[in-house]
Parts: sequence; structure tokens; C-alpha cells
Amino acid sequence: MSYHIEKLIDEKEVVEGIKRVADKINNDYAGKKLRLVCILKGGVFFLTELSKYIKEDMSIDFMSVSSYGSGTVSSGVVKIIKDLDESIEGENVIVVEDIVDTGNTLSYLLDMLKDRHPESIKLCTLLDKPSRRTKDVKVDYVAFTIPDKFVVGYGLDYDQYYRNLPYVGVVEFDD
Ligand code: 5GP
Repeated sequence: MSYHIEKLIDEKEVVEGIKRVADKINNDYAGKKLRLVCILKGGVFFLTELSKYIKEDMSIDFMSVSSYGSGTVSSGVVKIIKDLDESIEGENVIVVEDIVDTGNTLSYLLDMLKDRHPESIKLCTLLDKPSRRTKDVKVDYVAFTIPDKFVVGYGLDYDQYYRNLPYVGVVEFDD
């Protein structure tokens, strides 16, 4: 099936949105140390840009998860492919994700991470698709709220491709 990618958020806008999120985080965590927990692979591009503008002392760690379930709908059961390297006990954790869609993955993951007794834990996402939400997950920082479209770029893939696009685009299937 042929398709093309329609630009939704251009490169300049993406960076501006990320800077706005960093400003909020700097404000909320003034004088505190931060642990940014990035969800692989999609969150990497957002994490690197975001962390450039964080003024507080911060460290990073990575986690890779896969959602059990068929096709494009996640089931809510999450398999840990790669766990964090460091303990988060007593840390101020911000989970950095590319997109929150149904909320299944994050809802499961946040509950699991809360059991590890961080000092605090918040969720930060580049993109939010609230219209698709089935799980009540609190998203603390959002760079962009987007409509219910399948997007790629800035870390998001279509069959593992397009993560490297410096903008966010919608995959439009041609008739
Ligand atoms: P949730 O559990 O919130 O439904 O799913 C979150 C995951 O689904 C994201 O981390 C991402 O991997 C994938 N996902 C959801 N919507 C999109 C989208 O529009 N484009 C891409 N490339 N992945 C998406």
C-alpha cells in the first residue's frame, strides 16, 4: 500500500515545544536532582533535546518495554525487555516517553516504578493523543496534544523507519 508523510509539527516548532516543557520542569524541580527515565526506542530523541535545557542536576537511565497484544492496540500487559540500570529509590523520577495513546503501557509501567519507592514520579511526553485514552493515566508534561492520527518522526517509527525525521508527520495512506 502506498502512503506519504504529511508534516504535522515542523522541526522549529518541535524544539520550541520541548523548550517550553523544560522551562516547566526547571520551575517545578528548582534545587532538586532529577532522574530522567527514557522509554526506548521512541523516547530517545525527545530525551536528548529536552535534557539540553534542563538546568538542574540530572542523570538518565533507559528502559525498553513491549506491549503484549496484536497489531496497533496495546493490551495493557507490558513485558520488560530491558530494565533500568540503577535503582530509583529516593529519586525524583520523570518518565520520558514519545507518545501516550491508550495509556495502557504507561499506566502499567508507572505502577511498577512506583513500587520501587522513588521520592516522586512524573510523566513527560512529547505527544499526547487524549482522544484514544482508555486508562486514566496522569500526564504531567506534554509538549504537543495531537489528533487521533498515526504519526512518525522525532523518535516515532513506522515498521522501525522514520524515527530520524526531525519533524513529526502523519502517515497518510493513498487510495
Ligand atoms: P499506549 O499503551 O499508550 O496505547 O501506547 C503507547 C505506545 O504505542 C507508544 O510508546 C508508541 O510506541 C505506540 N504508538 C501509539 N500511537 C502511535 C503513533 O501515532 N505512532 C507511532 N509510531 N507509535 C504510536
